[in-house]
Amino acid sequence: TAEIINGKEIAAKKREEIAKEVEKLKENGVTPGLAVILVGNNHASRTYVTNKQKSCQELGMHSILIEMPEEVSEEELLGKIDELNQDPEIHGILVQLPIPKHIDEKKVIESISPLKDVDGFHPVNIGRMMTGQNTFLPCTPYGIMVLLEETGISVAGKHVVVVGRSNIVGKPVGQLMLNQHATVTYCHSKTKDLKSYTKQADIVVAAVGIANFIKADHIKEGAVVIDVGINRNEAGKLCGDVDFEEVSQVAGYITPVPKGVGPMTITMLMYNTVKSAAESSNR
Ligand code: NAD
Repeated sequence: TAEIINGKEIAAKKREEIAKEVEKLKENGVTPGLAVILVGNNHASRTYVTNKQKSCQELGMHSILIEMPEEVSEEELLGKIDELNQDPEIHGILVQLPIPKHIDEKKVIESISPLKDVDGFHPVNIGRMMTGQNTFLPCTPYGIMVLLEETGISVAGKHVVVVGRSNIVGKPVGQLMLNQHATVTYCHSKTKDLKSYTKQADIVVAAVGIANFIKADHIKEGAVVIDVGINRNEAGKLCGDVDFEEVSQVAGYITPVPKGVGPMTITMLMYNTVKSAAESSNR
């Protein structure tokens, strides 16, 4: 049976390192600061935002939450972002997605200064990632790379099959794997005969959003299986995109849900904010 990759433990270790870095920066008069903008009343979004605030506090960072009503105008939101772009106490700006439909998401993302885009969603930063330059890497994909690194799994020369091609998970995680010299295959909703690809993979990353979608017969014996999904099954229980029960019988390594990829996402957000603070003090 598969070895379980303990994301909670690895995240805790990373957070200790981040806390030390925060302390060092504070000694030099810089307190890393994150601004989170929450628009409207999405319940899941509120939980995510609260967790991000809490993590900042735990690490001794400065954080502010800006709440805006559902019917806020695009102009007002962009104005707020511009203000934060100028604010020397803020090193990271994050607009919690999704935002209401009357606001142009693309415009909002592009209005955040690439120097404060700690989510790594700005096209400039995506381009920098693609060309292997210094940038803010998107948090969930970055967290996956750290999980592998900390587990001692090298991706160079491996065949990685990414299932899912979203801008926030699938596409960037494949790119980061490629940057680390993996051979990458992307599969998605239009892929024919998905199994024929996943069966060949040394590493499978599942970012589909369908509960227990990946089964034992998708996986090669001994493969590494990374489960990004956060879903609810029919019983309302939290579960991933991978059928953990049966896949853990064939895989070599597997991330559980919860306590796998999830805890890494916020950790890398904290990492990026601290990195931004450090870089701003060197400019
Ligand atoms: P998305 O809905 O934007 O993308 C899903 C992708 O799955 C699409 O690209 C689609 O082509 C692909 N897909 C759909 N049906 C498929 C099928 N039958 N066969 C193959 N591919 C198929 O989702 P997302 O934002 O990438 O998120 C994916 C999952 O990861 C969700 O459960 C989400 O909640 C979770 N998530 C977790 C974290 C975390 O921190 N752990 C972060 C982001 C997203």
